[in-house]
Amino acid sequence: ARPVVAIVGRPNVGKSTLFNRIIGERLAIVEDKPGVTRDRIYGTAEWNGVPFSVIDTGGIELADNDEMLQSIKAQAQLAIDEADGIIFVVDGKTGLTPSDQEVAELLYRSNKPIVLAVNKVDNPQREEAVYEFYSLGFSEVIGVSGAHGTGIGDLLDAAVAML
Ligand code: GDP
Ligand code: MG
Repeated sequence: ARPVVAIVGRPNVGKSTLFNRIIGERLAIVEDKPGVTRDRIYGTAEWNGVPFSVIDTGGIELADNDEMLQSIKAQAQLAIDEADGIIFVVDGKTGLTPSDQEVAELLYRSNKPIVLAVNKVDNPQREEAVYEFYSLGFSEVIGVSGAHGTGIGDLLDAAVAML
């Protein structure tokens, strides 16, 4: 069976946008607002001759902050259990948040390999947004722009290398 890569992170960081870039189709629903209920979406891709499956985790229900955080964590845990490797997405425009820390803690406890994608690095001036995320402790940190398609090749190089 194909190895599975799960895309994990809090709402609105750009997981579905990156998922669409990776599978090359407009399949996932990209929402301007977080909190829309959605099922996880599966796709397939191939990079450097390595075929793999991709899971876009979403399905975050409208809820107060506590419930939303529980939901994000539940989604992340499901993906961790199912995945061979994880792309952890954070928002380089917003910067590091407590929810990112919460998801990171779940990921530390897994023995799954993780690539950290700092999304919304839309231009070279934003590259420095990547640095604060090194404090999360992951060794693979890649600045990307799902919107512009930059950094996706480097992200996929790192993603298939962990499988
Ligand atoms: P998800 O909730 O993590 O799946 O995030 P989405 O993919 O639905 O994107 C959330 C919002 O961020 C949408 O308004 C996207 O257009 C926007 N977005 C996604 N990727 C980028 C990016 O690389 N740069 C910028 N500036 N916005 C982005
Ligand atoms: Mg989404």
